[in-house]
Amino acid sequence: MKCPFCGDPNTQVTDTRENDDGEVVRRRRRCVHCDKRFTTYERIDLKMPHIVKRNGNRSDFDHAKLSDSMKLALRKRPVTTEALEQAVDRIEARLLAMGENEVASEKIGELVMKELKKLDKVAYIRFASVYRNFADVDEFSEVIREVQSRPKRGRTSSPPPADPENDLFGN
Ligand SMILES: [Zn+2]
Repeated sequence: MKCPFCGDPNTQVTDTRENDDGEVVRRRRRCVHCDKRFTTYERIDLKMPHIVKRNGNRSDFDHAKLSDSMKLALRKRPVTTEALEQAVDRIEARLLAMGENEVASEKIGELVMKELKKLDKVAYIRFASVYRNFADVDEFSEVIREVQSRPKRGRTSSPPPADPENDLFGN
């Protein structure tokens, strides 16, 4: 750590302490050259990775988008918003724990499927049947919206039809 007063690279740590919850380490330093004192703070730098889509485009991780996609899959299913949010949190925690700057969108799709499988089988099948044909969770939302906005009688929770129309969704 370079001295901010004289620029000398040799500084000594004279005191180190953590704050109460152990999240920040505070160090008192002394410059060996000019003897001035200064303090540095060290904290964990956790950032959500960027998402790399199959076509190579990168986008920022978007909590709202992820949660919306899962909400769509869970539409009219007996799963609480709280359970859904906990699932989203677990996905985010996994992504953080990977410690990567970039993560393939397929990886997120896998994590979503794992969580949906635990939450609700119908939502899982709903997501998986559409998702397998798509590159991204974003695309999944678009397709699901399309499928669900089509008029349909009697059945409210069936997965998207496995008919030739699926070809419209881009194979
Ligand atoms: Zn100095």
